[in-house]
Amino acid sequence: MRRKDLKFIVCIAFIICLSGCATVPRATEVFPYKTITMHNQPYFALLPMCESEGVKWDYDPLSKVILLKKDKADVRLLIGSSSIVSVGGLKKLSGPVDIKNSVIYAPVELMGYIVPPVCKFPEKKTAGSLYLRAIDSVILDAGHGGKDPGAIGRGGVRGKDVVLDMTQRVRNELSRCGLEADVTRSADVFIPLASRPKAANDKKADLFISIHANANRSRWIEGFEVYYLTESVDDDARALAAAENAPLDIEDHDLRGQFLSLKAMLWDLIYTENRKESIELAHFIGRAVSKKMNIKLLGVKGAPFAVLKGARMPAVLVEIGYISNRDGERKLRDPQYRQAMAEAIAGGVMDFKNYCEGASRTNKSD
Ligand SMILES: [Zn+2]
Repeated sequence: MRRKDLKFIVCIAFIICLSGCATVPRATEVFPYKTITMHNQPYFALLPMCESEGVKWDYDPLSKVILLKKDKADVRLLIGSSSIVSVGGLKKLSGPVDIKNSVIYAPVELMGYIVPPVCKFPEKKTAGSLYLRAIDSVILDAGHGGKDPGAIGRGGVRGKDVVLDMTQRVRNELSRCGLEADVTRSADVFIPLASRPKAANDKKADLFISIHANANRSRWIEGFEVYYLTESVDDDARALAAAENAPLDIEDHDLRGQFLSLKAMLWDLIYTENRKESIELAHFIGRAVSKKMNIKLLGVKGAPFAVLKGARMPAVLVEIGYISNRDGERKLRDPQYRQAMAEAIAGGVMDFKNYCEGASRTNKSD
């Protein structure tokens, strides 16, 4: 019960901390936890971070040794010492691990040892693509928001809240990998569908990724899907697109006219140009998630999503799970699950980046 309470508080603190920022921080400034100044540098509270990121921890008050484990990371710390033992051997932090008001604090750089950025352990190198284009910036779009709640689970979990938290976690992961990652919304606000890809166009972003949580009348359906834009689709994809495009009827009634105009011809050219890469990006994300997460990949499919229309770069829409499914809702409620899912999506983006940049040709040294 106490762990659950703590998780909840950490999650809320996390959301408040992030959504409170009026401006989106630059890639290099992102540190996802509250910091305080100790020993003349930024420190963060260690255990709340462990709870949020799914890091297993153990503290022996007698020896004052802390053990931290997650995936391939295995780190040992000693209170009062700046030396740590990591997988690579003995490392030195810029300041000692310390206790203040019964809370254990560590210098922010420790984060990199415990929760390495997803790019630190890349998937096996794929054959270099023919594109050889740089992927430096990404716009992440949290679906719905404000008066449009998105899917709502029986337990009260709202799609708009879950995907807001998810996009911020994906942004943090990509920022840690050196990508310039921005979001279309960092608060619970309504944004018309057409403004979302426009934000990506205005910033000349290299990728556009819209994140949603799905729902279905059939409550037993659970799984993960990645969509790219297409016009000819099956009935299920058309039904989903109709549901996702619903806010279009309220706010974007002039969009249809716009697409019937001459602009549509120009857009058609851009769309055809980016279509192949969008499909590949969708497959990279689908592969990364199904490899890391215990969730069924229901497909990488085409659908006529309005939010993807007009994006002048490879663009995909990710449905992270079914909020209408009891298990799906339970998982999406869990910040550790959302963090793991965010890391998986970011990993897929990094795999795609490596692919586009021909990493297998240029990074032969490792
Ligand atoms: Zn949605």
